[in-house]
Amino acid sequence: MKDETLLIHLNEERSGHSGPVVPPIHQSSLFTFPQWDDIDEAFDDPANSHIYTRGNNPSVNLVEEKIAKLCGGEKAKMFASGMGAISAAIMNCVKSGDHIVTVDGIYGPANNFISKYLHEKANITSTFIDGTDISNFKNAIKKNTSLIYLESPTSATFKLQDIEEVCKIAKKHNIKVIIDNTWATPLFQKPLRLGVDLEVHSCSKYISGHSDVISGVVIGKEDILNSISLNESALLGSSMSPIESSLILRSLRTLPLRVKGHQENTSKVIDFLKESPKINKIFHPLTNQQNILYNKQMSGFTGLLSLELATTNLDEIKGFVNNLKYFKLGVSWGGFESLVYAPAISYLKELTTDQFESMGISLGTIRLSVGLENTEDLISDLEQALDVIK
Ligand SMILES: *Cc1c(COP(=O)(O)O)cnc(C)c1O
Repeated sequence: MKDETLLIHLNEERSGHSGPVVPPIHQSSLFTFPQWDDIDEAFDDPANSHIYTRGNNPSVNLVEEKIAKLCGGEKAKMFASGMGAISAAIMNCVKSGDHIVTVDGIYGPANNFISKYLHEKANITSTFIDGTDISNFKNAIKKNTSLIYLESPTSATFKLQDIEEVCKIAKKHNIKVIIDNTWATPLFQKPLRLGVDLEVHSCSKYISGHSDVISGVVIGKEDILNSISLNESALLGSSMSPIESSLILRSLRTLPLRVKGHQENTSKVIDFLKESPKINKIFHPLTNQQNILYNKQMSGFTGLLSLELATTNLDEIKGFVNNLKYFKLGVSWGGFESLVYAPAISYLKELTTDQFESMGISLGTIRLSVGLENTEDLISDLEQALDVIK
């Protein structure tokens, strides 16, 4: 089955339950067994049995099976948020005293988790490198490096890392590789095929796509996913609920169509922005001059981008944001609606100015999530808001 087909048909048992085209939601906290021996047997393989919904639930499992297949992985585990998935994946790969190599510009809370939380709680150290230069990875590896954590493209500046080459280096040193693949979606980038051990997504973005779900997923080989299920998921308890899985299942049906729509709108918005004298720079894989790498590992692009306004005047920067009508001011991205945000607002509360500037952005860096509205409406909205810049 190709991606579009498996999202609609994979593992849907339509012959039972009177044949509904949409599967029932197993809204149940526990599962009962006819006899002692039956529940006894289930406990022999808790990672794959339906005993209690914190561990496993058939509705959640259906979404996991589809996402695993879509990513080319053996198994997937859903989490209550993208950060739930990221923290679980990372903790499964490291132990106290280890070292993590990661790249400048990863998602802010992931940066915090690695550089502060794990450092304070478990004496885990980290090195942040410019991920666009492959030799930086070789140079950053230490004796106690157990994990390379990638995000390609990165947040805010959307720089790519050469996933296949990083994995080759990691394999030589017996180091695990995790990638946050949220931006590209599993449709446009398949990192497990390039050698990564674990792929993570925030499903709160394109995978759910309707701005009504918070969720995350980890995908990889069966043995490591079973270990994550029994440890970081079941023990720490950030499982996803059956209700959320029904919303994600519905979203997955239209994911291929939605990302194509976002791609089409984004391409036109970028064409317009490129011509504007009020914009210094656009950050997006289309404009980042990494075309060879883009063509090597990605088959499409999505609609989150940043631009640098041609002004450092805070009143004008705020004026641009405040004057937008269709681009609503808010965090998050990847939904049907267009959004605008200034990374400086939250990043400067979480990161030092050095860490912020190491991402290559400034006060006048504005992030746009291009939604599914009419393209002409979006472009004329940007045009009128740019009028405040003199
Ligand atoms: C939003 C986001 C996350 C975190 O996902 P949540 O579902 O909000 O926890 C992780 N990575 C990236 C790139 C994101 O944009």
